[in-house]
Order: sequence, then structure tokens, then C-alpha cells
Amino acid sequence: MARYTDSVCRLCRREGQKLFLKGTRCYTDKCALTRRNYAPGQHGQGRKKLSEYGLQLREKQKAKRFYGVLESQFAKYYEMANKKAGVTGENLLQILESRLDNVVYRLGFALSRAEARQLVRHGHFLVNGKRVNIPSFLVKAGDVVEIADKSKSMPKIKAVLETTDGKTIPKWLELDKDNAKGKVVTLADREDIDLDIQETLIVELYSK
Ligand code: SF4
Repeated sequence: MARYTDSVCRLCRREGQKLFLKGTRCYTDKCALTRRNYAPGQHGQGRKKLSEYGLQLREKQKAKRFYGVLESQFAKYYEMANKKAGVTGENLLQILESRLDNVVYRLGFALSRAEARQLVRHGHFLVNGKRVNIPSFLVKAGDVVEIADKSKSMPKIKAVLETTDGKTIPKWLELDKDNAKGKVVTLADREDIDLDIQETLIVELYSK
């Protein structure tokens, strides 16, 4: 599968805001955006005012990058969101939040969504007792996500759990820290999603 392999910090600099793609580094003054808060490339420091289309495009790119989703998959999620009852933009964010890699990250079982994706791919998580190694797997209300028994003693996973101890867990998820397990109480509502995304701009873009 195609994958973005360039520096992820360039993505934050392109969007002009922190996308938190690098775990703990994002919270330090080593963050590339803190040091160079302008777009990458030769003309990065001479940003022009964006057109309406440009604003819509940037918002879509930002959402894709927050969740680490490629173009074709993002377009599929938009189709799903559009077919669902309710507000399309909110449906879209709810679908993105329901990805297993995002849930793993939100529960504090990984320091970034990219790390969560890798840990899921390597088979470290169970959903309802069965191993799932597909980061795009969409969870449902009532699903239980847990670290596989064998993986709990891995130094890398132990270190992550120590680092994320005390992390705020969104109210649509419930964490059982002692058992390295989390439950999807309900799917995320818009107000549960703390990301700076204007989903209406994305809907406008796809509605053209
Ligand atoms: Fe973005 Fe994190 Fe890199 Fe800062 S350190 S630019 S927040 S990925």
C-alpha cells in the first residue's frame, strides 16, 4: 500500500499547525513548527492569501494528515459519511475517529497515530478477544480493544503506557488501565473531537 515517507514535520509546517505526528517530540521545543513556523520549500516564507478552494483543500489535507489517511481512503470515508443519516461532516469525523489506530492512540496505548498504526499492524491488539491487525478497522459501540497478553510485557509498550499515564481519555471511550483494555462506550460526537478541523469546508470541497 502507498505510504507517505517524507518528513512528517513538513506536513505540520505545510498546514501551519501542529498535527502531533511524532509523539512526545511534538510537545517539546524540538518541534519543527516551533522552530520554523512557515511552509516548507523555497517559497514557504512568502505565503499568499488562500482562495476559497485553497482553504477547502487545506482543510481536507489537514484532516487526512491528522489521521494518517491517504486520498482514496479519505474519499471512501466521505462517501460513507454522505450516505449515513445526519450531518455529513460530523459523520466523516466520527468515521475517522472510529479507526482502530485512532482508538489505540486515544486510549494512550501509543504516542501518536503513526505509532498506533504500526503496533496494530504488528498484531499487538485484540478487538473483542480476536487479533486485528488492520489499522483502518472501524470499531463499533460496545467493542473492547485490548493489548494482547504477550505484548503487555514488551519494553516498548511498557514505556508507552508509562508515558501516557494520566492522559485524558475522551468520554466516548472507557479505559481499564490495570488490564490494558478500553471500551468503546459510544461512537464519538463532534464535541468529543478536539481537533481543529472545519469539516464544513471539506464537505463544500466534495460537493463541488
Ligand atoms: Fe508536527 Fe510533531 Fe513534527 Fe512538531 S514535532 S512539526 S507537531 S510532527
